[in-house]
Amino acid sequence: MENCVFCKIINKELPSYTVYEDENVIALLDINPKVKGHTLVIPKGHEANFSHLTADQARHLFLTTQKVLKALLSTESLAQGANILINQDQIAGQTEMHVHAHIIPRTHKNNFGLNFNHSSSLSLSHEQFQNIAKEISENLK
Ligand code: AMP
Ligand code: ZN
Repeated sequence: MENCVFCKIINKELPSYTVYEDENVIALLDINPKVKGHTLVIPKGHEANFSHLTADQARHLFLTTQKVLKALLSTESLAQGANILINQDQIAGQTEMHVHAHIIPRTHKNNFGLNFNHSSSLSLSHEQFQNIAKEISENLK
């Protein structure tokens, strides 16, 4: 896809710090790392969003994400845990419109701020939980 940074990297028109590549996916260091080892895993076929991927593309993306995660975890100074993140569309912070998964290594020393703050959770009634669950499950295809 023209003007897509990740397609250009995949086609070797732009450089990258590649850590893994096969016929389906490429994994490379994020050029603006949130922490040391911040890696992107990118399917080679251009699709804007995670929701557009075929089952096969999603499988390759997740299996490669797990593979790279394991490599990161094998170096304790780099990762003792990690956040795996896919931003779906601009409203969720997606800036590069070619689907990619972020692997953001976490250590006791890095202070990446992604935090699920349980004290700010919504307070929903039993009926609200039921309605939301029903709405989602009815739309599953
Ligand atoms: P997102 O907000 O999920 O769309 O994230 C896009 C990510 O791509 C950002 O973290 C950018 O730093 C990263 N990025 C943009 N251009 C490049 C590049 N040429 N090489 C590596 N990472 C990039
Ligand atoms: Zn692309």
